[in-house]
Amino acid sequence: STPAAPAGPARSAALAERASRVIPGGVNSPVRAFGSVGGTPRFLVSGSGPYVTDADGAEYVDLVASWGPALLGHAQPDVVEAVRSAASRGLGFGASVPEEAELAEEIIARVPLVERVRLVSTGTEATMTAIRLARGATGRPLLIKFAGHYHGHSDGLLAEAGSGLATLALPGSAGVTAETAAQTLVLPYNDLGALERAFAEHGDRIAAVIAEAAAANMGVLPPERGFTRGMIELAHAHGALVILDEVLTGFRAGPGGYWGIERADMPEGAAPDLVTFGKVVGGGLPLAALGGRADLMELLAPLGPVYQAGTLSGNPLAVAAGLTTLRLADDGAYARLGRAADAISSGLSEALASASVPHRVQRAGTLFSPVFGDYTEAPRDYADMQRQETWRHRAFFHAMLEQGVNLPPSAFEAWFVTAAHDDAAIERVIAALPAAARAAASA
Ligand code: PMP
Repeated sequence: STPAAPAGPARSAALAERASRVIPGGVNSPVRAFGSVGGTPRFLVSGSGPYVTDADGAEYVDLVASWGPALLGHAQPDVVEAVRSAASRGLGFGASVPEEAELAEEIIARVPLVERVRLVSTGTEATMTAIRLARGATGRPLLIKFAGHYHGHSDGLLAEAGSGLATLALPGSAGVTAETAAQTLVLPYNDLGALERAFAEHGDRIAAVIAEAAAANMGVLPPERGFTRGMIELAHAHGALVILDEVLTGFRAGPGGYWGIERADMPEGAAPDLVTFGKVVGGGLPLAALGGRADLMELLAPLGPVYQAGTLSGNPLAVAAGLTTLRLADDGAYARLGRAADAISSGLSEALASASVPHRVQRAGTLFSPVFGDYTEAPRDYADMQRQETWRHRAFFHAMLEQGVNLPPSAFEAWFVTAAHDDAAIERVIAALPAAARAAASA
């Protein structure tokens, strides 16, 4: 690995200054601005395996992994070669290419309830299209979502959302009409009673319930035992559909996503109707997907009346990156991901406990994140996650960054390991934890 950082992030600071003159906040996605942790956001210039390097030449063990897509680590040689090879044949045609069906087949093989797949470019498009499809299929207007869940930035999905809205403590977004907001009912997570009451009151007007397969945009908060099953059964009893959002968890929490973990406990027939994917499915390039039962998916144009389209949908470079990533994501890769997650999450718990920092480490498959504060009772919903001691995260984050570990710059995001996090990378993280835990303790 390369030498330590030169004095201070001077180049990053200059780049941030320059960017802020032409790009709102200097960023193209809000959390990147370090708004909730303060300090200079690092401009990254390269990545290799578990490491990223910033504009000042400092190297970090990366626990952001491009917010999920880099399942195999940065610049994985086979993925890069597949993209290079695709690029040499043309960057895109706006016509079908042979590999699109191969990627769809790979998704179907991993998530058997999915019978048809449509490729899009972002997770936002995937969930937006899934909701349109649910409304088109049921002829009903309303959508249920859970507080703290994030499904991208389409108008109807920004109410009490996680991710950047949680980081910035925003209840929603300006620019969303009251009429649109009124079409989304927001309920507390892990509360089947609340869901039952919503269906009792509005049942025949609810098109769908959308949920992250395991919440990971307010920090990691998996569904309690029985919640996903209860949600599916209640929705189906009232003629509504279930959209399981696996944009973040898909092919990452485990080989079949978080549904692949929960599926074993489900009775016959209890399955979501539509599933959304993103991040890993594009291997680091802009690609996402929605999938589900054939009868529903075939309501999409050109077969059916629900319209959806995209100039860049199924882009051959993105398809090549996604397909190569999924093909390389074998049992060995998931074993390495699990091992890295186990080692780092238990090291994290030990360091925080040694420094007497009250906390809990939350886990969903290979995803995890700490919540700082008194959590003798496990958190259940967004209100529980929001009462965490975010100032401790801020101190912890900067102490890790100074020691060469790149964490998500928000207390409301998951930590992402990759299959490239080997012993050396894991040990660098673990070595940095005690000082960061002491910083959190005295914050
Ligand atoms: N759904 C979930 C669960 C997500 O985590 C995200 C992004 N973090 C999205 C949807 C939106 O995806 P994108 O940023 O690609 O639009």
